[in-house]
Amino acid sequence: MSAKLISIEEARSRVLNEALPLPPHTVPLIDALGAVLAEDIIAAHDVPPFDNSGMDGYAVRAVDIVEATPAAPARLLITETIAAGHVATAPLAPGQAARIMTGAPVLEGADTVVQSELTTEDDGYVNILEPVKPGKNIRRAGEDISAGERVLAAGTALGPAEIGILASLGHPQLSVHMRPRVAIISTGSELVEVDQPLGPGQIRNSNSYTLRSLCTQMGVEAHAFGIVPDDYEATREAIERGLQYDVLLTSGGVSVGKFDFVKDVQDELGVERKLWGVAMKPGKPLAFGVRGRTLVFGLPGNPVSAMVSFELFVKPALLKLMGHRATMRPVYQAVIEEDLANTDGRTYVVRVRAWLEDGVWHISTTGAQGSGILKSMVGANGLAFIPGGARGVKAGEVVDFLLLREDLIEP
Ligand code: AMP
Ligand code: MG
Repeated sequence: MSAKLISIEEARSRVLNEALPLPPHTVPLIDALGAVLAEDIIAAHDVPPFDNSGMDGYAVRAVDIVEATPAAPARLLITETIAAGHVATAPLAPGQAARIMTGAPVLEGADTVVQSELTTEDDGYVNILEPVKPGKNIRRAGEDISAGERVLAAGTALGPAEIGILASLGHPQLSVHMRPRVAIISTGSELVEVDQPLGPGQIRNSNSYTLRSLCTQMGVEAHAFGIVPDDYEATREAIERGLQYDVLLTSGGVSVGKFDFVKDVQDELGVERKLWGVAMKPGKPLAFGVRGRTLVFGLPGNPVSAMVSFELFVKPALLKLMGHRATMRPVYQAVIEEDLANTDGRTYVVRVRAWLEDGVWHISTTGAQGSGILKSMVGANGLAFIPGGARGVKAGEVVDFLLLREDLIEP
């Protein structure tokens, strides 16, 4: 197998080649966070739709207050009070002012709003203590978005701000790329479910949970089918079911063991293999192929391998299916704090804790790095890449790493 191992980059590019954005469908705005727009959004009206006050204060004519001083205020008759959501009953005449609240429409005749702090009030009059520039404190119609503007282009990933813009433009629903439906199958006769006691030789199924959580975290719905024993028929039945989804993730059973049936079953069911074996550790045994439009990942069974393979290959594919243009997180450079030997040809993908010191990333490993040591992922906020071949790296050298979790960056 070693001779045919391909690089991480080559493997990812083969995977991404097969992943095409899913067709659009219409969703309610409230469900669109994290989705990718499949249509251009053209503003049907100005935002804000009308000139409105940016302050609580008084709408005036600027010419009426040019001479105002604290000793000799401009004294204007208050005609009415305009609350947000209401419109004035009459235009403003010379010598007059209207009380106006933030967000209320500026009335005809007024060209300036004086904030309350620069005024006093008595007997139905407002005393303006200093002049204010014409136009001050007025938010103009269309100053945020003007009618006819292309506000969001197809291909835009929808975050909270984009959702807000769509709400302000009156889009209760919109066209976005469908999100992939993912099936998860954990193979292994040694596996039992989380609520079961452990018998001799048994371990609990954790891959269903990590893989499903990784999907959920990116807004992708995944169905975990549960455990399938290392039995050819059972494996075939489960994989056949999984092929109805956009993406099928199996874990385990994909190596060269006597009871590893996943690749044979993929072959029998017409999955066209695009790669098998990546020059990395953990995660060497990865079998990826397609049947129809279904992407089929045979992930390794080791818990860390399955997670690392998800981060490096499955996640970019899911992002591309969702219509995202950016399918990879940025790779940063970091100073590694310890020596790490790596003499075989494969890239060593180590789980690290990354932190910033004076603007420079530093990383250290999260402890023992075996592919079965799930604890190495706990508290890890990055994956670092130690090139294979030569000797590894020495403390103080700079290596590439992928930041996985911003919520875990500590000073
Ligand atoms: P395999 O790839 O099937 O040879 O599995 C490699 C290792 O990962 C074995 O030690 C398995 O017991 C373990 N393993 C496989 N599947 C799971 C799973 N779903 N949860 C936890 N460990 C697993
Ligand atoms: Mg197995």
